[in-house]
Amino acid sequence: MWKCKKCGLLVMFSAVDPEVDADGCYFLCPGCEHRNKLENVDKSGEGIALAQPSD
Ligand SMILES: [Zn+2]
Repeated sequence: MWKCKKCGLLVMFSAVDPEVDADGCYFLCPGCEHRNKLENVDKSGEGIALAQPSD
């Protein structure tokens, strides 16, 4: 699960659609609409594996 950095809501992967803009990947918290950053951790160069930065 992902966790909203603003309100702490736990979000199922299937509950949100990750989006991409000029700044990168993110998902919008369904609770507070905070923009939570995601990063592509795929190392194969063939696909996308999104993860939430731990900072
Ligand atoms: Zn939130």
